[in-house]
Amino acid sequence: MHTRVLHFAGLMMALSPGSLKAQAAMLESNLKAQAVLNRAVTAYGGRERVRAMSRQFTWVLEGDLIHLNQSPSASQSVSTPFRMVMAGDLDAGRYSTDRKGSYPGGFNWRNLDVLDSGRTKQANIGPRTVVTLPTADVANYQAQLERLPQMVVARLDGQRRGLLWSSVVTRDGQQYNVIEAPVNGTTIGRYYFAERTGLLTDVERVIGDDYEGDAVVRVRMSNYRAEGGTMVPGMIEQFTGTSATMRVKPVVVLLGQAPAESLFTLPAGLTDVPRQPPAEPAFDQVGPGVYLASGMAGGYRMLVADFGDHLAVMESPNGSEQSGRAIAKIKAQFPGKPIKYVIPTHHHDDHAGGLRAFVAAGAVVVTTRGNATVFRRMAMASYTIEPDEQAVQQKPVQFLFVEGKLVLEDGGTRLEIIDVGPSPHANEMLVAYVPASKFMFQGDLFNTGVGEPATWGNLTTVHFAEWLSKSGLAVDSLGGTHSAVRTRGELDASAARVKETAVRD
Ligand SMILES: [Zn+2]
Repeated sequence: MHTRVLHFAGLMMALSPGSLKAQAAMLESNLKAQAVLNRAVTAYGGRERVRAMSRQFTWVLEGDLIHLNQSPSASQSVSTPFRMVMAGDLDAGRYSTDRKGSYPGGFNWRNLDVLDSGRTKQANIGPRTVVTLPTADVANYQAQLERLPQMVVARLDGQRRGLLWSSVVTRDGQQYNVIEAPVNGTTIGRYYFAERTGLLTDVERVIGDDYEGDAVVRVRMSNYRAEGGTMVPGMIEQFTGTSATMRVKPVVVLLGQAPAESLFTLPAGLTDVPRQPPAEPAFDQVGPGVYLASGMAGGYRMLVADFGDHLAVMESPNGSEQSGRAIAKIKAQFPGKPIKYVIPTHHHDDHAGGLRAFVAAGAVVVTTRGNATVFRRMAMASYTIEPDEQAVQQKPVQFLFVEGKLVLEDGGTRLEIIDVGPSPHANEMLVAYVPASKFMFQGDLFNTGVGEPATWGNLTTVHFAEWLSKSGLAVDSLGGTHSAVRTRGELDASAARVKETAVRD
């Protein structure tokens, strides 16, 4: 009886007039946001049409990917051609996405994912392999679908409880009504609608970026035209912070009709490969005191040199979290030995994206001078959205620069860090050389994967084979961040094959 009275008192508090006023303000915010959304739904063709266009669609986007963390220069981005097809018949449980692009230096790729009959097939068209997953969840592709205005507007229309009014923003003399709504269970989005047309122009959300730290990702839709009873953007751009990362034009847009059957058909002749379980960490000796660590940071390889009372590690891949886990594995393997040096081969995210974890662990960054600015900025970035160890430690970044060659030698272990100079892949590139065993470790200069050498070699491989030949270094075997250990003969054969193909073409 006593507790009942207390509950009743609590209820009285909740219904006090001040609180009612707050409730009215929240309701007003929601209603104001709904009014903005209602205008957009009408502008795109009405509720029924928008829903149909978000369930059955074919979008072909063509343009460029703009790379900063995969560009030759750490301070200047480059563009490479990009084509993307997104096709959905969502009520039938079908979706496909076909992405074709490249990284500088001849790294061409095409990935085709087809969701159908409760399964996801992920095809890698270069090596002609396909992995089958036992589920088909379109939600896994939400980030790419958020680039399509009809998808976003239909989603917001279905989550009206999640809408709040934000503000009016003026940009280039135009007014935009900004509302907020969840993107998913953990992220809030801000959605900009042009006051003049009612159309969606920008979607923003915050992220913790490996290089930028706290940052906003923005998708911008512009140059709208009337087409097929709705409005279609002529340009879709994506930005991280102030840097553009993608710029594409919709060249085919078919909405509210089932996509062509061919878009759900995989090419013939693909080899089924089993879904790889995460590789267990392993440390294979490749020279006196030098170990090739596999199963690290997303399945990559790193080089660990043991100098008796301290370690040097080459590569810091894939963000603080994955590099942090790699550090824990290295510490377990070499107890009591601090990592004194971290040596990313180059500034790309799958080689240096986890640098902050090593800086937090007290490692000196061994690199070329051209990378100092970007690595310093990375180490000092504000990192509150996804706080990592460096956000807590705030360690100053210390550099040891490689001028041509740097020899690390102690306790009977000798590791030579060599500046390869500019290659088609990156302007600044280091390799590690173990003279005692004629072993070399490299990142992206000779990417073979761990399987059969079906697709070895590109322009960068040719450049590297020529550099190695000119260097006069005695190298018998090569390990790599993305490669099993290969022989020198395999490198030379790959380079020769690329040159032959180039001549024939
Ligand atoms: Zn790279």
